[in-house]
Amino acid sequence: APEIDENGTSPEKLLAPVLSAFWDQPESWTLETYERHDGYQGLKKALAMTPDDLIAYVKDAGLRGRGGAGFPTGMKWQFIPQGDGKPHYLVVNADESEPGTCKDMPLLFANPHSLIEGMVIACYAIRSSHAFIYLRGEVVPVLRRLHEAVREAYAAGYLGKDILGSGIDLDVVVHAGAGAYICGEETALLDSLEGRRGQPRLRPPFPAVAGLYASPTVVNNVESIASVPAILHRGKEWFRSMGSEKSPGFTLYSLSGHVTSPGQYEGPMGLTLRQLLDMGGGIRAGHRLKFWTPGGSSTPMFTDEHLDVPLDYEGVGAAGSMLGTKALQCFDETTCVVRAVTRWTEFYAHESCGKCTPCREGTYWLVQLLRDIEAGKGEMSDLDKLNDIADTINGKSFCALGDGAAAPIFSSLKYFRAEYEQHITGKACPFDPAKSTAWA
Ligand code: NAD
Ligand code: SF4
Repeated sequence: APEIDENGTSPEKLLAPVLSAFWDQPESWTLETYERHDGYQGLKKALAMTPDDLIAYVKDAGLRGRGGAGFPTGMKWQFIPQGDGKPHYLVVNADESEPGTCKDMPLLFANPHSLIEGMVIACYAIRSSHAFIYLRGEVVPVLRRLHEAVREAYAAGYLGKDILGSGIDLDVVVHAGAGAYICGEETALLDSLEGRRGQPRLRPPFPAVAGLYASPTVVNNVESIASVPAILHRGKEWFRSMGSEKSPGFTLYSLSGHVTSPGQYEGPMGLTLRQLLDMGGGIRAGHRLKFWTPGGSSTPMFTDEHLDVPLDYEGVGAAGSMLGTKALQCFDETTCVVRAVTRWTEFYAHESCGKCTPCREGTYWLVQLLRDIEAGKGEMSDLDKLNDIADTINGKSFCALGDGAAAPIFSSLKYFRAEYEQHITGKACPFDPAKSTAWA
């Protein structure tokens, strides 16, 4: 259980289970369980409002996109032009693939109706009668559960024609992707959904203007949409009572790595890693934290100096990172930084879609240099080359994948340059592979 900290913050305040409130109950995923926990009450409240008032309500609540970028959800809905005569679409991005990020899949597995209810509310707001869930293809158990939840929702009148007698219609299609990281980028996702190879499109136009089938489209993350029913049901003031003014509400944090009890922890925005580690039993016994990431591997790494940085858009942002997916990957002193960065960079090189040169070529060359350094075959000049290549990728690539690949290079050189140099001068990795989990 979390300790009360010096500011008098109680465990109840730290733990705010909303989306995860009944994950541990038998058959938590069924409509019956969801309705027993006030399921579909937010929808009834939403249907009593006009679509414009509903958008204004979600905007006032201050919900920010939970997929990583934190774009205000209500504002995104408001971008959808009205009276344009075109169909409007909602596409839920369930292609969760960021390293260490594992919140949307358990949410869909344990509580899929929170997403479906949120989708009906969002579609009513943006005047859409056709919505898609683009799911990461490898997670077949989640796919089956989503299909079943959608079937239940149709049977109960929450989807289909004339939902709850409101006169609005909504059809939901569950689509399984083929397991490409780049298809989580919203425009690559739309290309993939249209049946093409998933590669990012030039933005602008943003999907809100020209998205799926060139029509206005809202693309929202699973957790963002699943958070909407509770905001409607319990009120925007309740939502704003958690977190900070610019980053309000509750959220899911994914704690992983060398932690005693890794897993999903739900609480207000702006918790610190120290507080989350208190909940997760700390770093594994006998070890200490060496470095961690706030948002998978696409955000810069932090060290134990940053244990008290609030995990919100201001705190982490002010400390030189973006919040990202709230995937806290924690590494102890047995981890070779160079090896960990090599593994992440291999991932980016493999997942690079190849559309633009800085990312396609740059990630390849980063991997070659890192492998050499890690194997004790590097030269001191390689460190400047690493920095130069990362600089050529960062901000000059077509999509955010390139920036994500550059982030661990810059931060590891900033905090752990001495460890790179040790590999080069010692002509070997100073870590014992038998003891370091980074070799796994
Ligand atoms: P972005 O900041 O460019 O856009 C965020 C959202 O706001 C998009 O939906 C975009 O369409 C919308 N938007 C931004 N400006 C707009 C405008 N002027 N008009 C209309 N809409 C506008 O971020 P991004 O490139 O879409 O995503 C990057 C994020 O993805 C990173 O923060 C990263 O953490 C996250 N990410 C998540 C995963 C995962 O598995 N969840 C994987 C990789 C990356
Ligand atoms: Fe593709 Fe990488 Fe360029 Fe993105 S940055 S378009 S993933 S090559």
